[in-house]
Amino acid sequence: MVDWSRHFEVQNSGTHITMRVTLPSKRKRESMGDSDSPPATIPRLGCSANEFICLRCKSINLERIFRNSVSSSYGSYIVTLGRASYLLESNCLLCQLFASITPSDFDRNSSPRDDFCHLYAFSSSRMYAGLNGLALKSFQDSIMLGVTRIPPPRRMDTWTWHQMSQSLKETGYICRVDALASEEWDPDASTFQVRLVPPKVDLRLARKWLNYCINQHTNRCVPRNPLAVLPARLIDCKSRSIVKTSPHSSYLALSYVWGQDSLETGAKQPQLDGSTLSKVPLVVEDSMKVTLGLGFRYLWVDQYCINQNDPEEQHHEIQNMDSIYANAQATIIAAAGQDANFGLPGVSSTARKPQASLKLDGKVLIRTMPDAK
Ligand SMILES: [Zn+2]
Ligand SMILES: [Zn+2]
Repeated sequence: MVDWSRHFEVQNSGTHITMRVTLPSKRKRESMGDSDSPPATIPRLGCSANEFICLRCKSINLERIFRNSVSSSYGSYIVTLGRASYLLESNCLLCQLFASITPSDFDRNSSPRDDFCHLYAFSSSRMYAGLNGLALKSFQDSIMLGVTRIPPPRRMDTWTWHQMSQSLKETGYICRVDALASEEWDPDASTFQVRLVPPKVDLRLARKWLNYCINQHTNRCVPRNPLAVLPARLIDCKSRSIVKTSPHSSYLALSYVWGQDSLETGAKQPQLDGSTLSKVPLVVEDSMKVTLGLGFRYLWVDQYCINQNDPEEQHHEIQNMDSIYANAQATIIAAAGQDANFGLPGVSSTARKPQASLKLDGKVLIRTMPDAK
């Protein structure tokens, strides 16, 4: 066992103590800062890491933080973690976990001090559900840790708060659970549960969510208006052909960005009505898989279901786009990637971003999923 304590160098920077690892490390910042590829050192699931926690992180009283409640909507300041670059280069696994939720868009023109990261505790009910007052009482609250670059002011103005909550939405939070179990979804649970998201999409679970929505939310979520305009055509995902919409076709819709590259390299506009789709961009291919996996047959994709050569039809369908989406059973939103060739992460070849987690003192710290972009 390496004696890691020998390699730590304590630097007192005046306001707080930061830890730097002076052990030569192959891990360079460049290999970790790329937002598309996950850091090579993301703490792996089930890693028991007590030996690899730096003194600063050891001084953070996680027991107390997760036991206490946070009454302020602005969160409760815990500690200043130091520069983002320190977190990224640290060999401490807790520092690395914090680095995984550090906002990446540091303003390069600002002074180096602005590069400092601060750890806050937040209330899950407030941050995720925007609940307050009476509604909060019916939920069992839990604590989530967030890293922001906004130092703790006595009073936070609305604009600063807006910036902070935006960046937290993008980076996600760190939650703590007793164990990582692949628990069944409990719709009646009164607490926010953090879930271990598997590398592949669990369509069975998504189907349950959808069924719950259809059965419990009724008109609120599925406004079936008999007078509404339906799309002229749909993709039949079973036969991979374009078919005319019948009045009772249940379909999913796809919302995505086609992208310049896909226009150049992507499939040509297919012949409409009865034509078969052979090669389609990955996002369409993946969406067809999702449609079938969720128990549906038809999918609406603007590029394939609107005849681009018929200006009148094109105008009509674009005018009624809201109705087409509103009448879909659900809409698949391709939020990740720049164009249609990126696909839907976790469905076929495009991988999901790994979800960092760390086993510490018999509990599991786990990151909520970040923004798909
Ligand atoms: Zn640390
Ligand atoms: Zn619903």
